[in-house]
Amino acid sequence: MEAATSAQRVTMEEITALAKRRGFIFQSSEIYGGINGFWDYGPLGAVLKRNVKDAWWRDTVELRDDVVAFDSSIVMHPLVWKASGHVDAFHDVMIDCKVCKHRFRADHLSDRSQCPDCGSKNSFTDPRNFNLMMRTWIGPMEDTSAMAYLRPETAQGIFVNFKNIYQTARKRPPFGVAQIGKSFRNEITPGNFTFRLREFEQAELEYFVPDDGKDMDAFREWVERRKAWYAQYGIASERLRFYELTEAERPHYARAGIDVEYLFPWGWGELESIAHRGTYDLDAHVKLSGKDLQFFDEATKSHYTPLLIESSAGMDRTVLTFLIDAYERERSVDPNGKETERTVLRFHPLLAPVQVAVFSLARNKPELVVRARAIEAALRPVFRTQYDEGNIGQLYRRQDEIGTPFCVTVDYETLDDGSVTVRDRDTMRQERTAADTLGAYLRERLER
Ligand code: ATP
Repeated sequence: MEAATSAQRVTMEEITALAKRRGFIFQSSEIYGGINGFWDYGPLGAVLKRNVKDAWWRDTVELRDDVVAFDSSIVMHPLVWKASGHVDAFHDVMIDCKVCKHRFRADHLSDRSQCPDCGSKNSFTDPRNFNLMMRTWIGPMEDTSAMAYLRPETAQGIFVNFKNIYQTARKRPPFGVAQIGKSFRNEITPGNFTFRLREFEQAELEYFVPDDGKDMDAFREWVERRKAWYAQYGIASERLRFYELTEAERPHYARAGIDVEYLFPWGWGELESIAHRGTYDLDAHVKLSGKDLQFFDEATKSHYTPLLIESSAGMDRTVLTFLIDAYERERSVDPNGKETERTVLRFHPLLAPVQVAVFSLARNKPELVVRARAIEAALRPVFRTQYDEGNIGQLYRRQDEIGTPFCVTVDYETLDDGSVTVRDRDTMRQERTAADTLGAYLRERLER
């Protein structure tokens, strides 16, 4: 049976409305009418995205002793893209409707007899190749000799530096190099909110292994590690799949490939691709540059080109996935027997933009406000906190909508006995605990 689609739980309209209302994601250049394929992350979205990238970085780099960090430039020598194949083969095929001028990716149109937009019959131009790389010009002259590209992936910066990296990091295969950074693609049809962008961020791991017969083990280990990562941060397993590419679906040089896909409201969409790319990338740069990019093994005094396992994940698509997967509309009955409905984002506590919100029960009671602000300030070095005051019901609703795991309320009892109310986002249960030991109490519950 097909897993429950996200559309049965949430629509894209609900997600985009929440993202705007609560400051997760805004249209880029909104006051000028926006620009297609570009989005901005608001105060909460910027923190969520940073947390997602940090979670990837922690698991892929910091918790391993065999992966090193890298950060290459966005604009590189144009020959990098000649060698990689992007100049000659990084195309989508596009066709236009001659009547309504709508542009389509040819592979997105199953039937070309009639324009799905305006209904005209046989109105399409011939298919044309369209290179997806964005161009720019370096220096004052805008001629072909000054033309360069904005990188369409971060990986090539690692390949062309392979020798610098392994020599300075004193690593020998198997070892990996990881990088998170912006990439640009002139997508013909950007859309589905932040799923298909023209400017986006990728988290890429290039893991180099010797050709000793254990390369497929390394491939499978990375697949398992990535599976565990999505599970650890709470993505529902029935809405995530690891689709194994057939030989016909893989590039000719790839020995194995898996697409990680999420069941979005519009259907399955790729979040990440994990591939065994053989020696293709290093070979291509050796061939065009004429430079040696082989690994020199001091022990055996031999040169060889390592095989490459790559994991390439889109951070914007991953953030969108966490937003959609965490979203829930929930009906419940309040203590007075009244039926209420709330929207809640069930973010993993490590990803939640705000982890602990601290409220003063009343706005106009200085003794409560001062106490609540002091509690928030004391928690701030350890948790991502927010201070607020006023109607507690409304404050809870707002924090539920931004996915805050815990709300702490300072009330008159606090002034008497030093206790505060801690309310749990998921169960909505409230517990009183001592303000003095609140830090330890919250830490224990966040790590549960
Ligand atoms: P698609 O088939 O969706 O165009 P792709 O197969 O070209 O993607 P890759 O080149 O494998 O994508 O890039 C690795 C990852 O980078 C993708 O899994 C995706 O998460 C992300 N990515 C690629 N293109 C875009 C884009 N236009 N907008 C946002 N993320 C992207």
